Amino acid sequence: MVTRQDRGSRGRLGDPRGRHGGSGLVPGEDAPGGVVPGAVVLPLASAGAVPSAVRSAGVRSTEDCPCGSGMVYGSCCEPVLDGGAAATAEALVRSRFTAFVVGDEDHLFRTWHPRTRPEGPYCHPGTQWTSLTIGEVAGGGPRDDTGVVELVARYRTGDGRGGVVADTLRERSRLVRRGGRWVYYDGEVR
Ligand SMILES: [Zn+2]
Repeated sequence: MVTRQDRGSRGRLGDPRGRHGGSGLVPGEDAPGGVVPGAVVLPLASAGAVPSAVRSAGVRSTEDCPCGSGMVYGSCCEPVLDGGAAATAEALVRSRFTAFVVGDEDHLFRTWHPRTRPEGPYCHPGTQWTSLTIGEVAGGGPRDDTGVVELVARYRTGDGRGGVVADTLRERSRLVRRGGRWVYYDGEVR
């Protein structure tokens, strides 16, 4: 198990290729371990060798939500992935994490501001998102138009040599309300 730290780059549960910063939750594609500091792509995917199928299968409505809220999927992220509006910026961040877990490309596309949204696909078959922890949240409430959500997302991805490494993405995601709905704008990887 190797743990790397991303510093200084912009994160993004969002950009798989590291072209923009932000939690595109994109893992790097060039570094041996799959993560390029500074280019930060969080890993739902990875470089080269993809260890067998890490892609998550479907989650049942009665199972714990992948976002770690403690609620069941059907009462948490599922309605948002199904097209419902996220009530808060945090809820949107949670739903996007869950989308990475279950491989919901449509949701990731739809909830990414068109100005910063890279081309998909956003999920990488070799990266498995394992847990999400939400830190400080500023704004992002029902009466706000912008919000910042700090998150720590853990994942496993291929190391490019046939193995799997665990890593962590720490990001301050910026969300904005667009057309009444929260969307991911960009993120700063810490
Ligand atoms: Zn959830």
